[in-house]
Amino acid sequence: MKRYRIEAFENLVEALNALPTIGRKSAVRLAYHMIQDDRFGAMKLAHAIEEAVGELHPCRRCHAVSADELCPICSDENRDRSKLCIVQNTRDVYTIEESGRYDGLYYVVSSVEDLDEEHLAQVTEGVEEVIFAFPPSIANDTMILYIESRLEGKGIVFTRIAQGVPTGVELDSVDLLSLSRAIEDRTRI
Ligand SMILES: [Zn+2]
Repeated sequence: MKRYRIEAFENLVEALNALPTIGRKSAVRLAYHMIQDDRFGAMKLAHAIEEAVGELHPCRRCHAVSADELCPICSDENRDRSKLCIVQNTRDVYTIEESGRYDGLYYVVSSVEDLDEEHLAQVTEGVEEVIFAFPPSIANDTMILYIESRLEGKGIVFTRIAQGVPTGVELDSVDLLSLSRAIEDRTRI
């Protein structure tokens, strides 16, 4: 049987299907929704994506997503600059912010390969406590040891967020009360 293919439609389905959590079936459903049911909404979405991708980039200091050179947290003079919380992504920065239990600065390191040691040395100037807010896993434990070894001899106290964060889950799936407790009950390592 001959298979008809409308290229622009297929391209849209493929682009949607490439997104995390969107399977082929959902991609097709979304594509029809965009081109038939809500063409205005689809154009708005396209514009919002273009604007966000064009304007947002990593903060020069903490590497979290920012619209300016420095993100709003790094530019806030009232944050406690003696504390630095190391997280894996920007999402975790804002998950911890929501808990309302932390007033220091952040640093985003997604993997050891991603770590710029010189930059880390700069941002830890004057820092007294480094808090690792990584969910427990072997890879994360290795990363913690590695970062600690890079910062040895600077008189920094290393802690990690405590109980309430189960092994192998993302921080944003931990409920806020547990996360608040985990930040307060952080343990020295
Ligand atoms: Zn920042």
